[in-house]
Amino acid sequence: MADEHHPHDDQHGSELSEMQLRVRALETILTEKGYVDPAALDQLIENAETRIGPHIGARVVARAWSAPEFKRRLLEDATEAVNALAGFDPVAAHLIAVENTPQVHNIVVCTLCSCYPWSVLGLPPVWYKSASYRSRAVIDPKGVLSEFGVKLPPDTQIRVWDSTAETRFLVVPMRPQGTEGWSEEDLARLVTRDSMVGTGLAKSPGEIG
Ligand code: FE
Repeated sequence: MADEHHPHDDQHGSELSEMQLRVRALETILTEKGYVDPAALDQLIENAETRIGPHIGARVVARAWSAPEFKRRLLEDATEAVNALAGFDPVAAHLIAVENTPQVHNIVVCTLCSCYPWSVLGLPPVWYKSASYRSRAVIDPKGVLSEFGVKLPPDTQIRVWDSTAETRFLVVPMRPQGTEGWSEEDLARLVTRDSMVGTGLAKSPGEIG
């Protein structure tokens, strides 16, 4: 593997961090035992670094905002709807889409470790894996949301979804006002990663200029 670059592991120079050493050791053992094919592993990593990212999720959300039939399919079976739209790399784990409404705001966490819908959002941000987010998202979701700068009406119900290795969640944020008639491409520019985790809202037209 030529380049192991992770946003949270941004080190220069030749010395390997402890994490990199552990990853390499594990990879060597798995390869030698024949559990993984190095080429398949490289493909997975390349996908994670280049093809997979929040732009996939943003496309999914923009389509859901513009096409009611797609939104219905997405909320019914997100795994099937996303795989059909993306056209590659089927979502491995069961994906569930949850929709924000004026009454309900959804937020996603993995209390146990760091399960994340990486097939639609790419690699998880560092805060998602932090012990503080993982515990506080459940105990005090309102407090967490306000730290992320999310202001919701006081009577909004907040639903917290706990991800597992088998089930991942994608939040469909509310479509911003003033976007009537926008193309899917323009709509997708409003959909941030955080808005699909529930720690943010979609941008308003004024925010993208
Ligand atoms: Fe996890």
